Order: sequence, then C-alpha cells, then structure tokens
Amino acid sequence: MAPATGPARIQLAGRTVQLAWLREHSTKAAPLFARARAEVGHASCLCRRPAPRLVIRCTRAGRYHVAGWPGEGEQHDPTCPFHKLAPHLSGRDRYSTQAIKEADDGVFIRLATPLTSSLTRPQTHTPAPEKTGDEPASRRSVGLLGLLHWLWEQVQLNIWNPQAGRPTWRTCHARLRQQLPPVTINDRNIDEALYIVPPFTPATADTNTAALHAFRARLGRHGTTERRALILGQIREVSPTPYGVAYRLAHQRTPLYARAALHARATRSYRHAFGKTAAEHGATRIALFAVERSPKGHLIAVDLAAMLTTSTYIPADSSYEVVMADALTASRRAFIKPLRYDTADAVLPDFVLTDTTPAAYVEVYGIHGRETYDRRKAEKQAFYQRQGGQLIEWDVTQPLPALARTSGRRPQSAV
Ligand SMILES: [Zn+2]
Repeated sequence: MAPATGPARIQLAGRTVQLAWLREHSTKAAPLFARARAEVGHASCLCRRPAPRLVIRCTRAGRYHVAGWPGEGEQHDPTCPFHKLAPHLSGRDRYSTQAIKEADDGVFIRLATPLTSSLTRPQTHTPAPEKTGDEPASRRSVGLLGLLHWLWEQVQLNIWNPQAGRPTWRTCHARLRQQLPPVTINDRNIDEALYIVPPFTPATADTNTAALHAFRARLGRHGTTERRALILGQIREVSPTPYGVAYRLAHQRTPLYARAALHARATRSYRHAFGKTAAEHGATRIALFAVERSPKGHLIAVDLAAMLTTSTYIPADSSYEVVMADALTASRRAFIKPLRYDTADAVLPDFVLTDTTPAAYVEVYGIHGRETYDRRKAEKQAFYQRQGGQLIEWDVTQPLPALARTSGRRPQSAV
C-alpha cells in the first residue's frame, strides 16, 4: 500500500496526471477524458495499489470531471480526496435518490427550502419543523443542515490530516468553489443558487462587493415569482435590531437581517452553535442561510442552519467535541468527523481515527442521568462492539484520555 501524502494523482487513458491540474484544465483534458471513458471505461486513483476506480462524468455542457466510484470511497487512502467513510458512518446514507441524485451529468439536490415562491398565490415560507424524533427511513428532500454537511463532506472539510496545513476561511472558500462536482439545487445551478462569502483582502474588496451586488440583483421579483438563494458564511456576531437580529459575517460588511422568531428558533435548533461555551474554545459557527431581498434591498434570512466548528473548521456537535478535536489535532492524529446531516438520531461515532488499521473510534460522553442519553450511549457501545475497532472514550467529568498513537502505525512517506 503506497501512502498518498503528496498531491493526488490520477491515471487517465494510460497517462498519469495531477488531480489539481485536471480540475483546473478540464477543457484541455477533454480529449483525454473522452478516450479514457471510451477505451477504459473509468479513471484510476493512484493513492493505493491496486488503484481504486474513479467514475468519469460529463455535463450536458460537455464539462468532464472525475468522482469517486459509488460505494467504493473506503478503498481510497484516508488522505485521498476521494476517500469516504463507510456509508453507515455518515448521515448521507439516509436520503433517497430523489433527495440527492448522482448522475452522469452532475449531482441534483432537492432542497426542502423552496428557492422561489409564487407572487400570484400568497405563500409564506414556514421553516422545516423542529425535530420530533420521528424520522423517516429515507428522506426525499435535503434540509439546510443536510446541505451544509453535504458540502463540507464533499470537499473533505470534516477530515483532519496532520500533514496538511491549517485550513482558513480562504481554504474553505477555495475548496467549495473548485472541488465540488457540477451541482444543481432545486433546478438551479449551484453557482447561481449559492453565494459563498469570499475571503476579504484589501485587493479583492471591490471584486467581492461587485459579486455580492450581482448576487443580490438576482433575488427578488422576476415576473410572477420571488427568488431566494443561499448564503454560506461564518457568523461573527449576532446583534439586536428593532425587528429581530442582524447576523454579521466574517469577511463581509453587509449583514443579514432576521426576525426575532427565526433567530429564537435557530438558537433552539442549533444550541451548540449559538452557545456561549463554544466561543471560549476558539470555536466558530458556519451558517447556511436562505435569503430574500427586501424592498429596500436588504438581505433577509428566512431560514438558516448553523454548524459549530473548531477554529480549523472541523464540525463538532458540542463544545466538548471542540476540545476533543483540538486535542486530537495537538496529538497529530488523522481523523474524520462523521456528519449526521438532517438525521438527529443517527448513531455515529463522534470521531473516527484513520491513522490506525482498523480505524479507531472516539466517543465523548457529556451529559449524565438523562434517559435518552444513557440509551444512546448503550446503543453506541453496542455499535462499537459490532465494528471491532479500538474505542477511546472521554467522560468529560474526567481528564482527557491518552490520545497519542501507540500501535497500528501506518507507513508514512515524506511530505
Ligand atoms: Zn484515491
């Protein structure tokens, strides 16, 4: 097994090319893609031997791209961009193909939050109901949190590799802009449906402002429909206004406004993201907003999902998980944070350590004496018994356990 710590390399019609080059020059590489598709039927990833297959896809506009072979993500090295956790370790598995359809010409997502509303039929947007614990076996649409987790997982922002650099917002933005497959959300191209707040620099300030203006111009009334869209950014501050709150985002001067009722609901649904303890640990909160344009041109959030992350953008389900993720990082462990998407009751490990074979699991036990919590803990312990990997447990009333890697060392190559 050859470890893949250098840039990802792909074999395409007998030629070895760097994935980064392919992504940047997909037009130039089109003849190579076409040959590989016709003659071999797939591309190969060189992260391991034997080389895992990659599927070659082509949009209707003729843009080629490669993606992990469905169901074979586990075969890639954990540091490979095509590595995926086993399906039962991700909330992604809970959606039907109506909700997320991965086709030859791209990924089609049905978002539960409508991106248009009819002006002829009076209609008010009601945000998705709060969790009832009664969850369908296979979801037919994706909620805002599900979409946020999908985006994070697609570009591997839930993966920590000690040999890679510390991600910043610039890294998150670049990966989300460059590494997603072609995506359509509710029949709209993702570039049109989703605005990702660009990192601020004095040199790009004017370009960023122009991009936000162009985005805002596409909202509002178009014929008999009112258009909404999505904004992804990092909440820096929530401040009160006469009608509710203003969300101030990092890297962007223009705030998003929301009614008090929406914010109250968001703080209940995403209490860890809006909680006070997280900030003490240097955590950040990432939010995906559905926005409208007010008659005066303000951006109004009509729904949102918020996600707590470490300062390096690894998602965490509580401030204790932030502490654990930071401790794993300090111990130079390679790990993945499994994401639950819209499924609140999914039984997933808190973290999966990928630098041992088989993978090990980390559990953080935060609250005692709640019946549901104790039941979940028992469910999880049964889950690990079935998986067979090592389990590291942390009861937060106790000091952190030893986290340094002791056995099962994977060969590492020089960076
Ligand atoms: Zn690979």
